[in-house]
Parts: sequence; structure tokens; C-alpha cells
Amino acid sequence: MKTIGMIGGMSWESTVTYYKIINEVVKEELGGLHSAKILLYSVDFEEIEKYQSDGEWDRAGEVLAEAAKKLENAGADYIVICTNTMHKVVPQIEAHIGIPVIHIAEATADILLQSGINRVALLGTKYTMTQDFYKEKLVGAGIEVLIPEEEEIEEINEVIFKELCRGIISEASKQKYLAVIDKLAAAGAQGVILGCTEIGMLIREADTALPVFDTTQIHATKAALLSIR
Ligand code: GLU
Repeated sequence: MKTIGMIGGMSWESTVTYYKIINEVVKEELGGLHSAKILLYSVDFEEIEKYQSDGEWDRAGEVLAEAAKKLENAGADYIVICTNTMHKVVPQIEAHIGIPVIHIAEATADILLQSGINRVALLGTKYTMTQDFYKEKLVGAGIEVLIPEEEEIEEINEVIFKELCRGIISEASKQKYLAVIDKLAAAGAQGVILGCTEIGMLIREADTALPVFDTTQIHATKAALLSIR
């Protein structure tokens, strides 16, 4: 069995979900008392979020690259970064280590293609929705990406940082998200990517008629399967 090196804490709310899913998949696949071999480096999200909002991505990248190096030195076979947004600094992390990073957007693009989806709605932080580092992976796989309007992007982003990353689940915010999903479905989206690792705490598959692609579920499942195959 391979050892998974997780960089978590962004936020810890979703890192818990990663840990649970990875172990559930390994248990499901191998049975018995099997559980995943995991090394976790959990950062202080207050520090990372400050770098994000100040636009100091290089500084944030340094913190994560250092974490990845420590995981490699401790015996990790590959790195799983438990957030969509921080995939912005994957090139910086990769330059620092000799083991692969399992990219969350590439894993998601694979599942979308397997599901026959080529036009998809993307919800996530404002960085993930508006910048290129994430969407380019989907577009590169031949998938068209639809994002909400400017005002909605701000609202969705605010719910992530002010509520979900603090463990707050609000019915009003859920309804806001569902209204945006409905609009994007009407604009032609064939599915919706929950492109922030905490959105799965708010929106479930059963909440909308549109097929839901939860990046936490997809990424954690891929990480788990890679460790046993
Ligand atoms: N976990 C979130 C994501 O998947 C947001 C936290 C962050 O900014 O890293 O993007």
C-alpha cells in the first residue's frame, strides 16, 4: 500500500471529510480492518487566507511547498492538496519535490468526461471561479466552463470564508447557491462542479436536478484508489 501525503487545514472542516472518504474507500475495496496509510500536514488557515487576500500567492506557495517537502521526507508517495484554490501554486510545489501532486481539477475533468459532460457550471472561491489556473485544466480537457455573475461570485465566496470554513451551515446560503445553480442550468450547464472542498457540506446531490460533481469526493476517492492499485 502506498502512503498518501495530505496537505490539509484549508479549511480543516473539509480535511476531516477527505480523511473519512479515503478510509471508507480503502475499507470498501480491501475489507477487513484495512485503513489508509496517510501522512497529514495541516496548516494554519488564517495565515494562508491572509496571503490569498493580499495576493501574496508566492508566500502561500512557499508554505505549502515546505509542507510537501516534509511529507516527502517522511515517506509520502504522492501529495494531495485538500483545497481547490491552492492548486494555483501547484507549479511552485512541484518544483520543490520529487513525488507527484494529484491535481484536483484533472481528477474532476476525468470524471466529467466519463460522465459525458462537456459544459459545466463551476462554483468555488472567487479565485477558482475567476482566475485561469483551475478552469484551464477543464478547458484543456475540452470542457466548457460556466461561472456565475459578478455579484453572485462575491456572495458564493463570502459564504465559503465566513460560513463553511468556520463550520456554519445556513439554509439561506443553501437556497442562494441553489438559485445560482438553477440559473447556470438554464444557461446550458449539464452538471455543476462543487469546486471548493467545503461546498459538499452545504449542497448534496439530492438538492438539485443537475448532476453534482463534488471535488472533495472525486479527489479523495482518486487518492485512496491510487494507494491500493
Ligand atoms: N477549501 C476551499 C477550496 O477548495 C477554499 C479554501 C481555500 O481558499 O483554500 O478552494
